[in-house]
Amino acid sequence: MSLLQFGCKKFKINVGFSESFVKKVCVINTGGTLSMKASENGYRPSAGYLTEQMGAMDELAQAPMPQFEIVEYDPLIDSSNMTPSVWGQIATDILDRYSSFDGFVVLHGTDTMAFSASALAFMLVGVNKPVIFTGAQLPLGQIRNDARENLKTAMVLAANYSIPEVSLLFGDHLFRGCRSTKVSATRFDAFDSPNYPPLASVGTTIEVHDETVLRCNNAPDLGMLPIHPAEIAAFRIFPGMSIDIFKHFLKNPLKGIVLETYGDGNGPSDDAEFTEAIREANQKGMVILGCTQCLHGGTTQESYASGTALTRAGVIPGRDMTIEASLTKMMFLFSQGISVDEIKEKLRQDLVGELTVTSRR
Ligand code: ASP
Repeated sequence: MSLLQFGCKKFKINVGFSESFVKKVCVINTGGTLSMKASENGYRPSAGYLTEQMGAMDELAQAPMPQFEIVEYDPLIDSSNMTPSVWGQIATDILDRYSSFDGFVVLHGTDTMAFSASALAFMLVGVNKPVIFTGAQLPLGQIRNDARENLKTAMVLAANYSIPEVSLLFGDHLFRGCRSTKVSATRFDAFDSPNYPPLASVGTTIEVHDETVLRCNNAPDLGMLPIHPAEIAAFRIFPGMSIDIFKHFLKNPLKGIVLETYGDGNGPSDDAEFTEAIREANQKGMVILGCTQCLHGGTTQESYASGTALTRAGVIPGRDMTIEASLTKMMFLFSQGISVDEIKEKLRQDLVGELTVTSRR
Protein backbone atom coordinates (compact mmCIF):
# COMPACT_ATOMS: atom_id res chain seq x y z
CA MET A 1 0.00 0.00 0.00
CA SER A 2 1.26 3.46 -0.81
CA LEU A 3 2.22 5.60 2.16
CA LEU A 4 -0.10 8.25 0.74
CA GLN A 5 -3.04 6.00 1.42
CA PHE A 6 -3.21 5.99 5.18
CA GLY A 7 -6.60 5.76 6.71
CA CYS A 8 -7.28 2.33 8.10
CA LYS A 9 -6.49 2.48 11.79
CA LYS A 10 -7.28 0.40 14.81
CA PHE A 11 -7.73 1.59 18.33
CA LYS A 12 -8.30 0.34 21.80
CA ILE A 13 -9.15 2.01 25.10
CA ASN A 14 -7.84 0.38 28.25
CA VAL A 15 -10.17 -0.24 31.17
CA GLY A 16 -10.02 -0.48 34.94
CA PHE A 17 -10.04 3.19 35.89
CA SER A 18 -12.63 5.43 37.40
CA GLU A 19 -13.39 7.73 34.43
CA SER A 20 -13.66 10.92 36.46
CA PHE A 21 -10.05 11.69 37.32
CA VAL A 22 -8.01 9.63 34.93
CA LYS A 23 -5.81 11.38 32.41
CA LYS A 24 -6.01 10.34 28.79
CA VAL A 25 -3.16 9.83 26.35
CA CYS A 26 -3.36 9.05 22.66
CA VAL A 27 -0.63 6.63 21.52
CA ILE A 28 -0.01 7.02 17.79
CA ASN A 29 1.92 4.03 16.47
CA THR A 30 3.69 4.78 13.19
CA GLY A 31 5.93 1.70 13.46
CA GLY A 32 9.59 1.28 14.41
CA THR A 33 11.44 -1.28 16.48
CA LEU A 34 9.37 -0.79 19.63
CA SER A 35 6.43 -2.72 18.17
CA MET A 36 8.31 -4.87 15.66
CA LYS A 37 8.56 -8.66 15.58
CA ALA A 38 11.57 -10.76 14.62
CA SER A 39 11.44 -12.32 11.13
CA GLU A 40 13.92 -14.25 9.01
CA ASN A 41 14.86 -10.92 7.39
CA GLY A 42 15.28 -9.06 10.66
CA TYR A 43 12.83 -7.02 12.71
CA ARG A 44 9.74 -5.89 10.81
CA PRO A 45 6.51 -4.05 11.71
CA SER A 46 3.62 -6.24 12.76
CA ALA A 47 0.00 -5.05 12.73
CA GLY A 48 -1.83 -5.44 16.03
CA TYR A 49 1.29 -6.46 17.94
CA LEU A 50 1.46 -3.27 20.04
CA THR A 51 -2.16 -3.68 21.14
CA GLU A 52 -1.48 -7.31 22.03
CA GLN A 53 1.67 -6.47 24.00
CA MET A 54 0.16 -3.50 25.83
CA GLY A 55 -2.91 -5.55 26.64
CA ALA A 56 -0.65 -7.99 28.49
CA MET A 57 1.13 -5.29 30.52
CA ASP A 58 -0.71 -5.30 33.86
CA GLU A 59 1.20 -2.26 35.06
CA LEU A 60 -0.61 -0.11 32.47
CA ALA A 61 -3.77 -0.40 34.55
CA GLN A 62 -2.13 1.17 37.61
CA ALA A 63 -1.62 4.79 38.64
CA PRO A 64 0.09 6.96 37.45
CA MET A 65 -0.57 5.40 34.07
CA PRO A 66 -3.18 7.23 32.02
CA GLN A 67 -6.10 5.78 30.16
CA PHE A 68 -4.99 5.39 26.58
CA GLU A 69 -6.15 4.93 23.04
CA ILE A 70 -3.93 3.41 20.37
CA VAL A 71 -4.04 4.73 16.82
CA GLU A 72 -2.18 2.26 14.67
CA TYR A 73 -1.05 3.20 11.18
CA ASP A 74 -1.70 0.95 8.24
CA PRO A 75 0.87 0.26 7.04
CA LEU A 76 3.18 0.43 10.02
CA ILE A 77 6.61 1.41 8.78
CA ASP A 78 10.27 1.08 9.55
CA SER A 79 11.12 4.76 9.93
CA SER A 80 13.75 4.45 7.19
CA ASN A 81 10.67 4.76 4.96
CA MET A 82 9.41 7.96 6.61
CA THR A 83 8.04 10.68 4.30
CA PRO A 84 6.62 14.20 4.69
CA SER A 85 3.15 12.83 3.93
CA VAL A 86 3.35 10.70 7.08
CA TRP A 87 4.38 13.82 9.04
CA GLY A 88 1.19 15.43 7.74
CA GLN A 89 -0.80 12.39 8.87
CA ILE A 90 0.69 12.50 12.37
CA ALA A 91 -0.10 16.22 12.68
CA THR A 92 -3.66 15.66 11.44
CA ASP A 93 -4.23 12.78 13.85
CA ILE A 94 -3.05 14.91 16.77
CA LEU A 95 -5.21 17.87 15.80
CA ASP A 96 -8.30 15.70 15.16
CA ARG A 97 -8.07 14.29 18.70
CA TYR A 98 -6.60 17.32 20.42
CA SER A 99 -9.49 18.13 22.75
CA SER A 100 -10.03 14.51 23.84
CA PHE A 101 -6.58 13.86 25.31
CA ASP A 102 -4.17 15.35 27.85
CA GLY A 103 -1.15 14.42 25.75
CA PHE A 104 0.15 12.48 22.76
CA VAL A 105 2.82 9.80 22.44
CA VAL A 106 4.11 9.12 18.93
CA LEU A 107 5.79 5.72 18.57
CA HIS A 108 8.40 5.94 15.84
CA GLY A 109 11.52 4.16 14.66
CA THR A 110 14.77 5.61 15.92
CA ASP A 111 16.41 6.00 12.50
CA THR A 112 14.50 9.12 11.48
CA MET A 113 12.82 10.07 14.76
CA ALA A 114 14.84 13.28 15.12
CA PHE A 115 13.75 14.35 11.61
CA SER A 116 10.08 13.69 12.37
CA ALA A 117 10.18 15.37 15.79
CA SER A 118 11.82 18.41 14.16
CA ALA A 119 9.30 18.48 11.32
CA LEU A 120 6.31 18.25 13.67
CA ALA A 121 7.75 21.06 15.81
CA PHE A 122 7.70 23.32 12.74
CA MET A 123 4.31 22.12 11.48
CA LEU A 124 2.16 22.18 14.62
CA VAL A 125 1.06 25.61 15.83
CA GLY A 126 -0.72 26.54 19.03
CA VAL A 127 -0.20 23.11 20.58
CA ASN A 128 -0.30 23.45 24.34
CA LYS A 129 -0.09 19.80 25.32
CA PRO A 130 2.81 17.32 25.34
CA VAL A 131 3.59 15.64 22.02
CA ILE A 132 6.26 13.06 22.88
CA PHE A 133 8.10 10.93 20.32
CA THR A 134 9.62 7.71 21.55
CA GLY A 135 10.77 4.34 20.29
CA ALA A 136 13.24 1.64 21.23
CA GLN A 137 16.43 -0.16 20.30
CA LEU A 138 14.86 -3.54 21.20
CA PRO A 139 11.17 -4.43 20.74
CA LEU A 140 8.55 -4.98 23.46
CA GLY A 141 8.63 -8.73 22.85
CA GLN A 142 12.34 -9.19 23.56
CA ILE A 143 13.35 -10.50 27.00
CA ARG A 144 15.79 -7.61 27.42
CA ASN A 145 14.38 -4.40 25.99
CA ASP A 146 14.21 -0.65 26.42
CA ALA A 147 10.77 -0.50 24.78
CA ARG A 148 8.67 -0.96 27.91
CA GLU A 149 10.37 1.75 29.97
CA ASN A 150 10.41 4.24 27.11
CA LEU A 151 6.73 3.62 26.37
CA LYS A 152 5.59 3.86 29.99
CA THR A 153 7.72 6.91 30.79
CA ALA A 154 6.52 8.74 27.69
CA MET A 155 2.90 7.98 28.63
CA VAL A 156 3.38 9.18 32.23
CA LEU A 157 5.05 12.37 31.02
CA ALA A 158 2.40 13.03 28.38
CA ALA A 159 -0.42 12.57 30.91
CA ASN A 160 0.85 14.29 34.01
CA TYR A 161 3.32 17.06 33.16
CA SER A 162 3.11 20.47 31.58
CA ILE A 163 5.46 20.16 28.61
CA PRO A 164 3.65 22.03 25.83
CA GLU A 165 5.98 21.26 22.93
CA VAL A 166 7.15 18.49 20.61
CA SER A 167 9.73 16.44 22.50
CA LEU A 168 11.58 13.14 22.30
CA LEU A 169 11.91 10.69 25.18
CA PHE A 170 14.67 8.13 25.13
CA GLY A 171 16.32 6.39 28.07
CA ASP A 172 16.92 8.83 30.89
CA HIS A 173 16.06 12.04 29.09
CA LEU A 174 13.29 14.01 27.50
CA PHE A 175 14.75 16.29 24.86
CA ARG A 176 13.31 19.07 22.74
CA GLY A 177 12.37 17.33 19.48
CA CYS A 178 14.04 19.83 17.15
CA ARG A 179 17.28 19.68 19.20
CA SER A 180 17.56 15.89 19.22
CA THR A 181 19.86 13.68 17.22
CA LYS A 182 20.45 9.94 17.13
CA VAL A 183 23.97 9.32 18.47
CA SER A 184 24.10 5.56 18.88
CA ALA A 185 23.02 2.61 16.75
CA THR A 186 23.19 0.26 19.72
CA ARG A 187 23.04 2.01 23.09
CA PHE A 188 19.82 2.37 25.06
CA ASP A 189 20.59 6.09 25.44
CA ALA A 190 20.52 6.43 21.66
CA PHE A 191 19.67 10.15 21.51
CA ASP A 192 21.26 13.34 22.65
CA SER A 193 20.55 17.06 22.48
CA PRO A 194 24.08 18.40 22.24
CA ASN A 195 23.23 22.10 22.19
CA TYR A 196 20.22 22.36 24.47
CA PRO A 197 19.68 20.95 27.97
CA PRO A 198 17.12 18.17 28.52
CA LEU A 199 13.53 19.16 29.24
CA ALA A 200 13.32 16.41 31.84
CA SER A 201 15.57 13.85 33.53
CA VAL A 202 14.25 10.40 34.29
CA GLY A 203 15.64 8.29 37.13
CA THR A 204 14.10 7.07 40.35
CA THR A 205 12.10 10.28 40.07
CA ILE A 206 11.03 12.32 37.07
CA GLU A 207 12.33 15.85 37.13
CA VAL A 208 11.01 18.35 34.59
CA HIS A 209 13.41 21.26 34.10
CA ASP A 210 10.79 23.98 33.79
CA GLU A 211 13.25 26.65 32.78
CA THR A 212 14.12 24.73 29.58
CA VAL A 213 10.53 24.08 28.46
CA LEU A 214 8.92 26.36 25.86
CA ARG A 215 6.19 28.56 27.30
CA CYS A 216 4.04 30.32 24.74
CA ASN A 217 1.79 32.78 26.50
CA ASN A 218 0.24 34.13 23.35
CA ALA A 219 -0.04 30.89 21.40
CA PRO A 220 -1.79 31.27 18.03
CA ASP A 221 -4.86 29.22 17.18
CA LEU A 222 -4.36 25.50 16.99
CA GLY A 223 -3.43 24.36 13.51
CA MET A 224 -0.92 22.88 11.15
CA LEU A 225 1.40 24.33 8.53
CA PRO A 226 2.18 22.18 5.49
CA ILE A 227 5.43 20.46 4.61
CA HIS A 228 6.21 18.91 1.23
CA PRO A 229 9.26 17.28 -0.31
CA ALA A 230 11.49 20.04 -1.73
CA GLU A 231 14.48 20.23 -4.07
CA ILE A 232 16.98 20.40 -1.21
CA ALA A 233 19.96 18.29 -0.19
CA ALA A 234 22.82 18.01 2.27
CA PHE A 235 26.45 18.00 1.20
CA ARG A 236 29.29 17.10 3.56
CA ILE A 237 32.59 18.71 2.62
CA PHE A 238 35.82 16.74 3.15
CA PRO A 239 39.50 17.13 2.30
CA GLY A 240 40.03 15.89 -1.25
CA MET A 241 36.42 16.37 -2.34
CA SER A 242 35.96 16.80 -6.07
CA ILE A 243 35.06 20.37 -7.01
CA ASP A 244 33.58 19.08 -10.27
CA ILE A 245 31.20 16.85 -8.36
CA PHE A 246 30.34 19.73 -6.02
CA LYS A 247 29.62 22.04 -8.98
CA HIS A 248 27.53 19.36 -10.63
CA PHE A 249 25.61 18.88 -7.38
CA LEU A 250 24.76 22.60 -7.27
CA LYS A 251 23.04 22.50 -10.66
CA ASN A 252 19.29 22.51 -11.26
CA PRO A 253 16.88 21.47 -9.88
CA LEU A 254 18.56 22.02 -6.50
CA LYS A 255 17.02 25.00 -4.68
CA GLY A 256 18.50 24.68 -1.21
CA ILE A 257 21.48 23.02 0.36
CA VAL A 258 22.62 22.25 3.89
CA LEU A 259 26.39 22.48 3.60
CA GLU A 260 28.06 20.46 6.36
CA THR A 261 31.17 22.49 7.10
CA TYR A 262 34.06 22.08 9.54
CA GLY A 263 34.03 23.30 13.16
CA ASP A 264 32.86 26.89 13.48
CA GLY A 265 31.66 26.90 9.86
CA ASN A 266 34.89 26.72 7.89
CA GLY A 267 35.57 25.39 4.40
CA PRO A 268 38.32 25.15 1.78
CA SER A 269 38.42 28.92 1.18
CA ASP A 270 41.81 28.77 -0.57
CA ASP A 271 40.08 26.95 -3.39
CA ALA A 272 38.70 29.82 -5.48
CA GLU A 273 36.61 27.41 -7.55
CA PHE A 274 34.81 26.25 -4.39
CA THR A 275 33.92 29.72 -3.10
CA GLU A 276 33.07 30.89 -6.62
CA ALA A 277 30.69 27.96 -7.09
CA ILE A 278 28.91 28.94 -3.87
CA ARG A 279 28.78 32.63 -4.81
CA GLU A 280 27.30 31.82 -8.22
CA ALA A 281 24.70 29.44 -6.76
CA ASN A 282 23.72 32.04 -4.18
CA GLN A 283 23.37 34.74 -6.82
CA LYS A 284 21.12 32.45 -8.85
CA GLY A 285 18.78 32.17 -5.85
CA MET A 286 19.93 29.01 -4.12
CA VAL A 287 19.52 28.90 -0.34
CA ILE A 288 22.76 27.72 1.28
CA LEU A 289 22.79 26.97 4.99
CA GLY A 290 26.07 26.07 6.72
CA CYS A 291 25.96 23.55 9.58
CA THR A 292 28.83 22.14 11.55
CA GLN A 293 30.00 18.55 11.21
CA CYS A 294 30.67 18.62 14.96
CA LEU A 295 28.17 17.20 17.42
CA HIS A 296 28.54 20.05 19.90
CA GLY A 297 28.50 23.79 19.20
CA GLY A 298 27.59 25.46 15.95
CA THR A 299 28.65 27.68 13.11
CA THR A 300 29.28 31.41 13.36
CA GLN A 301 31.51 31.61 10.24
CA GLU A 302 33.15 34.55 12.03
CA SER A 303 36.23 33.11 13.74
CA TYR A 304 38.46 32.17 10.80
CA ALA A 305 39.16 33.56 7.38
CA SER A 306 38.11 30.13 6.07
CA GLY A 307 34.67 30.80 7.58
CA THR A 308 34.17 34.47 6.79
CA ALA A 309 34.91 33.58 3.15
CA LEU A 310 31.85 31.31 3.19
CA THR A 311 29.71 34.09 4.70
CA ARG A 312 30.88 36.47 1.96
CA ALA A 313 30.05 33.86 -0.69
CA GLY A 314 26.48 33.65 0.63
CA VAL A 315 26.43 30.78 3.14
CA ILE A 316 23.98 31.47 6.00
CA PRO A 317 25.38 30.28 9.36
CA GLY A 318 23.05 27.63 10.75
CA ARG A 319 24.41 28.27 14.26
CA ASP A 320 23.79 25.33 16.57
CA MET A 321 20.97 23.64 14.66
CA THR A 322 21.17 19.88 14.21
CA ILE A 323 21.38 18.57 10.65
CA GLU A 324 17.89 17.09 11.17
CA ALA A 325 16.44 20.45 12.22
CA SER A 326 18.30 22.24 9.41
CA LEU A 327 16.96 19.99 6.66
CA THR A 328 13.39 19.87 7.95
CA LYS A 329 13.36 23.62 8.60
CA MET A 330 14.52 24.29 5.05
CA MET A 331 11.95 21.86 3.64
CA PHE A 332 9.27 23.43 5.82
CA LEU A 333 10.17 26.97 4.70
CA PHE A 334 10.14 25.96 1.03
CA SER A 335 6.61 24.61 1.66
CA GLN A 336 5.23 27.95 2.92
CA GLY A 337 5.04 29.76 -0.43
CA ILE A 338 7.38 32.55 0.70
CA SER A 339 10.19 34.22 -1.25
CA VAL A 340 13.81 33.08 -1.22
CA ASP A 341 14.74 36.20 0.77
CA GLU A 342 12.12 35.39 3.39
CA ILE A 343 13.36 31.79 3.57
CA LYS A 344 16.91 33.07 4.15
CA GLU A 345 15.70 35.47 6.82
CA LYS A 346 13.73 32.79 8.66
CA LEU A 347 16.66 30.37 8.57
CA ARG A 348 18.56 32.89 10.71
CA GLN A 349 15.69 33.16 13.20
CA ASP A 350 14.70 30.88 16.04
CA LEU A 351 11.21 29.70 15.07
CA VAL A 352 10.39 26.96 17.60
CA GLY A 353 13.41 26.68 19.86
CA GLU A 354 15.63 24.95 17.27
CA LEU A 355 18.39 27.55 17.28
CA THR A 356 20.39 29.68 19.71
CA VAL A 357 20.48 33.11 18.12
CA THR A 358 23.11 34.78 20.31
CA SER A 359 26.74 34.36 19.32
CA ARG A 360 28.73 31.79 21.29
CA ARG A 361 31.50 34.30 21.83
N1 ASP B 1 14.98 0.77 11.49
C1 ASP B 1 14.24 1.02 12.70
C2 ASP B 1 13.33 2.21 12.45
O1 ASP B 1 13.81 3.31 12.39
C3 ASP B 1 15.15 1.30 13.83
C4 ASP B 1 14.48 1.56 15.15
O2 ASP B 1 13.30 1.72 15.27
O3 ASP B 1 15.21 1.62 16.17
O4 ASP B 1 12.15 2.04 12.28
